[in-house]
Amino acid sequence: MFKAKWIDISVGLKSNMACWPGNPEVKIESISSIAAGKIYNASALSLCVHSGTHMDAPRHLIKNGPSMDRLPIEAVVGPARVINITDRVSIKPEELKKHRLQKGERILFRTSGSGLWKKSGFIKQYVHITAEAAQYIVSSGVITVGIDYLSVGSFEDGVVTHQILLRNGVWIIEGLNLSQVKPGRYDLICLPIKILDSDGAMARAVIRPRKA
Ligand SMILES: [Zn+2]
Repeated sequence: MFKAKWIDISVGLKSNMACWPGNPEVKIESISSIAAGKIYNASALSLCVHSGTHMDAPRHLIKNGPSMDRLPIEAVVGPARVINITDRVSIKPEELKKHRLQKGERILFRTSGSGLWKKSGFIKQYVHITAEAAQYIVSSGVITVGIDYLSVGSFEDGVVTHQILLRNGVWIIEGLNLSQVKPGRYDLICLPIKILDSDGAMARAVIRPRKA
């Protein structure tokens, strides 16, 4: 029997981790501590829902678009393909076309952005999906795209990329860490927290190599 191990491709949430400039910092604090003589350990958390590994719902860019709790589970549980992007600036249609994206696919882009999680602050130069590539993804019929830094769009001008994907029903996973992963075919489970009416939600994402 084929027994492959699950690989965690989410980043760990911690206080003051890299977050989108202008968003509140991730803050995790102890509110009860055994070390301090209390009966139990407990923590409180405050953060933007677009922190660390997370998903964007259409509502992120569309006023009354579907919210995170409306995510079809099929979009984030099932076969997925990890594609290695060699371009160090952006994901362009020319490179994508070589990978022949198929209707119904879940695609995770492994870029040099995965390496940015090692740095402490937010890095503006990460590999993003160009508007043209977003259009190509939509026309290919891909249902879900994942990227390995904090946005599918560029730091300066990422709105259009988001709009193209979200208006066309493509669900977005951001903030993955694919540095330990080879390109290829996997099973994906990515479950965002069910925050009602939310524009996004933090998620745990894992993949497991597939035989074929
Ligand atoms: Zn987001």
